[in-house]
Amino acid sequence: MSGSNVLETNLTIEQAADLLRKNEVVAFPTETVYGLGAVATSDAAVAKIFTAKGRPGDNPLIVHIGNVSQLESVVSAIPDTAKRLMDAFWPGALTIVLPKHASLADNVTAGLDTVGVRIPSHPAALALLKKVNLPIAAPSANVSGKPSPTTARHVADDLSGKIAGIVDGGEAHIGLESTVIDCTADPPVILRPGGVTKEAIEAVIGRKVILHEPSKDTESTPKSPGMKYTHYAPKAPMSIVKGDSVFFQHVIDEAKSRTESVGILVTEAHKSTYNADVVISMGNDAEAIAKRLYDALRAFDAHDIDVIYCESFNETGLGTAIMNRLLKASGYRVIE
Ligand code: AMP
Ligand code: MG
Repeated sequence: MSGSNVLETNLTIEQAADLLRKNEVVAFPTETVYGLGAVATSDAAVAKIFTAKGRPGDNPLIVHIGNVSQLESVVSAIPDTAKRLMDAFWPGALTIVLPKHASLADNVTAGLDTVGVRIPSHPAALALLKKVNLPIAAPSANVSGKPSPTTARHVADDLSGKIAGIVDGGEAHIGLESTVIDCTADPPVILRPGGVTKEAIEAVIGRKVILHEPSKDTESTPKSPGMKYTHYAPKAPMSIVKGDSVFFQHVIDEAKSRTESVGILVTEAHKSTYNADVVISMGNDAEAIAKRLYDALRAFDAHDIDVIYCESFNETGLGTAIMNRLLKASGYRVIE
């Protein structure tokens, strides 16, 4: 099946709930990115997620619930800090890592004794989770290594024929994955920056949290297992360019002098600033960039280009998550 057959796999909430209860895997929209769900208490159902995505078995899945009352079947302890974060940010883009409950399938957490859990805010996701009334393991609904899906079309492009179907809820509102915070540590550690900012978290708990900074070096011994894998990468190699517009054009021109075909990823405001072969733009403010980033990264694959150069952004607020994803997508290649 190709991406043009999205509607053939389009499920209602009722159909998706039925399939999940029969231990099938289905994709559904969340406010962050599309998730690929399976019942988190079934080893066999969860195994289908790993197979469909080609996901390494040592990379744990996030468990989604529709209601805080389900928490007691997912985690075995809830420290006070975690409670405050849930009150402030659920439903929403914050995944909280806590000691896991014994009823979860072992493969959900890749054998760890902790589990990442969240309540998403997307109405279709909430409706589905409430209907199934079981914890649902759901990583992003992409083939491992590719940019996460922010539309049902992206999901179909990656997974058509490999999953039972997709609930189409339009474009994901945030466009970047949830923030993952480890509340088994004190102070808590942000393992992955995302839709909820460090600043917002610190304002709620009234103290500093640690931001685990991924780098090429820490990738081999990560705190969050998923951090060690290549992510979000377009087919052509990408580098982040730090510097002014004159330097950016100079980098493009050097590549062109090597007769390379150059793609660039820039803000909307810089759409006409540079002379390159393929220009893909993605909004001006951090919210707009986050929403469009993965679609932009995927869009390069339709073009015959040798290299991609990308602008660099301020690492505050949502910018932290944007730069985290760009660094991973570029394999930490930065030109300054
Ligand atoms: P994805 O589901 O594709 O958005 O990826 C989930 C991310 O959360 C990965 O980076 C995982 O390594 C991380 N994660 C999930 N569960 C845990 C956990 N129990 N401890 C640490 N990191 C986790
Ligand atoms: Mg993912």
